[in-house]
Amino acid sequence: MLDGVGLDQVRGFVFDVDGTLAHRGRDGRAHPQRGAVDVLDRIRASGRRLVLFTNGSHVTAETMARGLREDGLPVGDAEMLTPVESAITYIRRRYPGRPTLMFAHEVIRARMVAAGIPEARADEAGVVFVAHVDAVDLAAMEHAARAVSRGAPLLTGSYARGYAGSGGIIFSRGAMVTAGIAKVTGVRPRIVGKPSRAAVEEISTRLELPSEAIAVIGDDAGMDIALGRMGGSRTVLVRSGISAEADLEKLPGRHRPDAVIAGVADLLEVLA
Ligand SMILES: [Mg+2]
Repeated sequence: MLDGVGLDQVRGFVFDVDGTLAHRGRDGRAHPQRGAVDVLDRIRASGRRLVLFTNGSHVTAETMARGLREDGLPVGDAEMLTPVESAITYIRRRYPGRPTLMFAHEVIRARMVAAGIPEARADEAGVVFVAHVDAVDLAAMEHAARAVSRGAPLLTGSYARGYAGSGGIIFSRGAMVTAGIAKVTGVRPRIVGKPSRAAVEEISTRLELPSEAIAVIGDDAGMDIALGRMGGSRTVLVRSGISAEADLEKLPGRHRPDAVIAGVADLLEVLA
């Protein structure tokens, strides 16, 4: 299955977490998939780099990495990427110094401020960024809509309608906030998580590699494979998650992987 994909020429790896390296139990804890720990160990032993990119934006990347370590998946803080990390890099590069109106948990706002992004007050926003929120203030959404109408970019961690929970789909509150601002302004949101140019840039920056030298491994064709294809990376779809039953023939070209495997353990044969 992995013949001809050229994973031996790849110098860095990007892994999705949920449905790829781990499955979440009802308690929210991650259960590493068979072979997941060995795959990460072998990549590191070969002198190559890796990152995990998950679209969660409710906690910091460090908190996410710590949780995964506690659950038995060895990942360093610097190996963990989220849309918040790509938003930080993106805003600092393109809109340096601009006050940013953030719809995000306090810990995330603090992380962004510590990274050098000034938080906007009232009507001065030059950028609007939407991450996961539990509650929303409509007056703040109105401020955001005014700023976006004046030309501030509308950035969002993810614009997927929801994510898989143990009891079915969990609707994305971030998507609801983003959609509300997009609706009243007529402005299309710019995604900074998976899949997006901002995420491709963030991965390249973190791995210090061009995206063509990277392989992306994930369970979601529309998200992980799309991310890899966007950057010209090699792509491997694992059938252990959301796209387990997807008919490859029916996928649009930009979602079609270079290879398909049952689960991450299948990578071990090419990582000897
Ligand atoms: Mg996934």
